[in-house]
Amino acid sequence: MRTHRAGDLRPDHVGETVELCGWVASRRDHGGVLFLDLRDAAGVVQVVVDPDGVDGADAHGVRAEYCLRVTGTVRERPAGTVNPDLRTGAVEVAAGSLEVLNPSEPPPIPIGDRTDVDEVLRLRHRYLDLRGERLQRNLRLRATVNSAIRTAMEANGFVEVETPMLVASTPEGARDFVVPSRLTPGEFYALPQSPQLFKQLLMVGGLDRYYQIARCLRDEDLRADRQFEFMQLDAEMSFADGADVRAVIADAVSAAVERVTGAPVGEIPVLTHAEAMARFGSDKPDLRFGMELVDLGHVFATTDFRAFQADAVKGLRWEGQADLGRGRLDALIDRAKQLGAAGLVWVKVRDGGVLESPTVKFMSEAEQLGLLDATGGRPGDLLLVVAGERRMVDTVLGTVRNDLARPPVNEGGLRFCWVVDFPLFEAIADDGAPIPAHHPFTAPHPDDRALLERAHGEELLAVRSQAYDLVCNGWELGSGSVRIHDGALQARIFERIGIDAETAQARFGFLLDAFRYGAPPHAGFAFGIDRLVGILAGEENIREVIAFPKTQSGADPLTGAPTPVDDRHLRELGIQVRRRG
Ligand code: ASP
Repeated sequence: MRTHRAGDLRPDHVGETVELCGWVASRRDHGGVLFLDLRDAAGVVQVVVDPDGVDGADAHGVRAEYCLRVTGTVRERPAGTVNPDLRTGAVEVAAGSLEVLNPSEPPPIPIGDRTDVDEVLRLRHRYLDLRGERLQRNLRLRATVNSAIRTAMEANGFVEVETPMLVASTPEGARDFVVPSRLTPGEFYALPQSPQLFKQLLMVGGLDRYYQIARCLRDEDLRADRQFEFMQLDAEMSFADGADVRAVIADAVSAAVERVTGAPVGEIPVLTHAEAMARFGSDKPDLRFGMELVDLGHVFATTDFRAFQADAVKGLRWEGQADLGRGRLDALIDRAKQLGAAGLVWVKVRDGGVLESPTVKFMSEAEQLGLLDATGGRPGDLLLVVAGERRMVDTVLGTVRNDLARPPVNEGGLRFCWVVDFPLFEAIADDGAPIPAHHPFTAPHPDDRALLERAHGEELLAVRSQAYDLVCNGWELGSGSVRIHDGALQARIFERIGIDAETAQARFGFLLDAFRYGAPPHAGFAFGIDRLVGILAGEENIREVIAFPKTQSGADPLTGAPTPVDDRHLRELGIQVRRRG
C-alpha cells in the first residue's frame, strides 16, 4: 500500500513521488492550505495539502488520528521552515492525492504528550497511547534487548526450552496465582513464579545449558518496578559454578546494552554481600556515586559519648552541605529514626576543620580528629553518624545515602555489579525456622556447611550461600545460585527451614526423586527483562516498557480484567464464590 515510511523521508528523496500510509498526528489549517503531520511506525513527516490541487478525499474533513493514504512529491522545505527537531524536518510532501483509509473519533487522550493524563484513561485506550513516540521507542528497544539476549545465549550454546504455565507451586517467596482444575474440582494449578524446578529437572535430563525468556507470575502488591507478570531471562547450566553462570549472563546483558547504547559494559565488579553492606549499606549498591559508609568503630572505641558506645558506629560524608538548615537536619534525624535508628548525629565541618554540632562537646579532641580523618571531611562538608546494631546501622546509612544522592534513572551511566555470597537465610520466622533468602534450592557456601549444622536461631543468619545477584544502578536486576544437587542435603535444608520430610516429599518429591538419578552439579540465574529495559529506556516505571500493563491496583482498564465468572462456569469448576461485604 505504500512506497516509503513517512518517518524515513530525507533530503535524498527530494523529487520522488511517494505513497505513504499513517495517522494524522496534527493538522494546521493555514487559510486554505492544510499542513498535516503524518505519523507512522518510523516517525512523522509534514504533508502539505492544497485542497484545490488534491484528488480524493475532502482534505478539510480530515481530523486527528484519521488513518490516511497520501500520494505526493517530496520537496525541500522552504528556507526558514526547516524543523531541526524532526528527523524528516528538512523535507515535506506536497500531496497529490489523499485517501481516508479509516476516519477516527476524536482521541480521548492526547497522543505522545503523556503529562497530566489520568493513567486509567491512558491504559483504557492503550492502543492509542501506543501510537506515541515514547512507547513506540520503548517497545522497539525491548525487542532489541530480547533479540540480543537470544543471540548471546545461543552463541554460548544455550538451548531455548519452554516450560509449562500450569504447574504445582514453586516457592519463590511470593503468593501464587492459582487456576482451578475442571477435571479435578477442588484442585488448583499454580501459575509459575519461575521455571525454577523445571530448569533443574532439565539439567537432570541432560539438556546441559537451558535458557528461556520466561513469563513469571507472582501475586504481590504492585509498585513502580513490579507487575503481577514479568519476563525473565531464565537460565541454568550443568557442570558449572557461579562464576561460569555469571560469565554467560554478563555476555547476554552486555550484548543487550551494547546493541542499545553502542557502548560495551566492560568487566562487572564482584562484591561480597558483606562488603556491599559494609560499604554501601545495601545489597543492591548504586555505584554511580560515592558517599561510601565509613566505619568509625576505631575512632570511638573508648568513647565517653554514650550514644556511640555501640556495636557499630558508622558515618557518611555529604560533600559541601555544611550549610544545611535546621529543618532539613531534623528531617534527616526523623528519617533515621523511622528506619530504626535511635538517632542520627550531624556534624558540620567549618574552616580550619572546626566541628560544629550539638554533640561535639561529648567527643574528645582525638575523636574529633579521628572523625575528620576517617571520613575525609573538609571544610564545608556535613558528616552524618549513626550508632547501634551493625545491620541496622548499615541499612539506615545505606538508605540515607540513596535518599541524599541517588541520581535519577537516566543519569550517571550504567554501573553494574555482582553481589555474591548472600546469606542463606534472610530472617528467622516467629516459629524459629529460618526463611531462605533466595529459594530453598540454593546451595550453602562450602565454608559454612559446618556452621549450618551447628547454628541455631539468629546464628543461622551468618550462614552464607552460593547465591548471587546482578545489580545495576541500585536496582536488583536478577538473582541466581549454585543449586543443591544432592538429595540428602536438599532434604536437610527442607528440614532446617521447617518443611518436614512428609511435606517435602508431597510438594517436591519429584525433585528429590530426580536427584536420585545422578543429578549433575548445576547453577543458574534469572534476571528481569522489564527492569533492564526500563533502565535502558530511562523509565522509572516499568509500565512504560510493557505493552499492556496493569494499574497499581492490578486491574487492566482496557479489557476489564479481572472479571467475574458466570455461575455455570463456576459450577463446572466446583467453586462457590462468597461475595464480599
Ligand atoms: N528462580 C530464581 C528467581 O526467579 C532465579 C534463579 O535462581 O535462577 O528469582
